[in-house]
This record gives sequence, structure tokens and C-alpha cells, in this order.
Amino acid sequence: MPDQPLFEMAGVEGRTLEELRDAASTCTNCHLYQDATQTVFGKGPQRARLMIVGEQPGDKEDLAGEPFVGPAGRLLDRALVEAGIERQTVYLTNAVKHFKFTPRGKRRIHSTPNAEEIKACRPWLDGEMAAVGPAVVVALGATAAKALLGASFKVTRQRGEVVDRDGMKLTATVHPSSLLRLKDPERTEAIEQFVADLRATAALLD
Ligand code: SF4
Repeated sequence: MPDQPLFEMAGVEGRTLEELRDAASTCTNCHLYQDATQTVFGKGPQRARLMIVGEQPGDKEDLAGEPFVGPAGRLLDRALVEAGIERQTVYLTNAVKHFKFTPRGKRRIHSTPNAEEIKACRPWLDGEMAAVGPAVVVALGATAAKALLGASFKVTRQRGEVVDRDGMKLTATVHPSSLLRLKDPERTEAIEQFVADLRATAALLD
């Protein structure tokens, strides 16, 4: 379980999404703001019943200032359609709001946020959850799952498990970027399983 219960970080309770977005745009709670282009805050309806939490913005998201607009986001879009979920009804965000990367020539290679960075960014995620009040929250990948469900949570073994907390159902599956790294036939099978997980998530909303 997380060290700190949801919503207990100071200064986020009672703030609207717009207020939180404005405040996060100048956040310096950790060093990641220094090299990234901008804060990539969550996006979606104020009263979304389903919230999806990824790890951090990628290269495309960092430049666009929006979550899930790169290759992994496009895969997520297709999977949502197949699972019968309309993307515009979902609030999409990340556990960490700045892009962490390692420069390699002209490219910026994704680098996984560490526990300190995830903790530093936690107030924004808590604020989003408090402001939106989703019925179901699904974490994508190990980083988001650990942030939401605790450091001992293992997506490989526990994907699809549902935890009831603070009036919400929390669950986790893989991050679509991990599916992009696979080759067929494993990739097709993994995408089918990902869609099945999202379909099960949608069923929690009924
Ligand atoms: S990653 Fe999060 S905590 Fe760190 S500077 Fe960006 S918004 Fe703030």
C-alpha cells in the first residue's frame, strides 16, 4: 500500500482542475522541470467516471503539452475503442508530470522516474483524483501501479486485481508503450490481453 493515503498531501484538497493545472505549470518540487519543455497535466472531463494514469509524458507529450498523444497514446486509443470505452469520457494523466529523459544525439530517450520523483509529484495526482472523483482508476505500467497501489504491487502478477479505496476502485494493467516494444505474435496477443483488461475495467463502471 502507498506510504501516504490519498488526498493527505497539503494544498491540493478543494482545488479545481484549472487551479491545479495552473499551479502545476510552475512546479519545481523536483528537478525534472529543468530539462523538460513543460508540465504535462492531465486532460479529460471534470467529472470523468474513469481515470487512466500512466507513468510520465513521453517525447511527443512533452512537446505537445498533452498526455497520451504519442505512439503509446495512439495504441491506447485503439484499445479503448475495442474495449467499448470512449476516450473523451476518460480523464487521462500520469503519475509524473514532467518528461524524464536521457539525451542521445538528437534523440531524448525515456528514463523511468525514481521513487523520489514520483513522491514529489504525488500531490498533483492526488489533487486530480480529488477534483475529478472517478469511480474507477486504472494504472498503466509498474510506475503508476506502484504510485497508486503500493511499492510491492507487481503488474506482471497482479494486473486486473481490484482494490477498493476512498470510494474508488483501483486496478492496474500494463503500459501500452511496453506493447510497442514486442514483436508479433507476442505483440498481438499482448494487445488482446490489454483490451481485455480495459474491458474488465469498463465493467467496473456498471
Ligand atoms: S515532475 Fe512533478 S514534482 Fe517534479 S517538477 Fe514536474 S510537476 Fe513538479
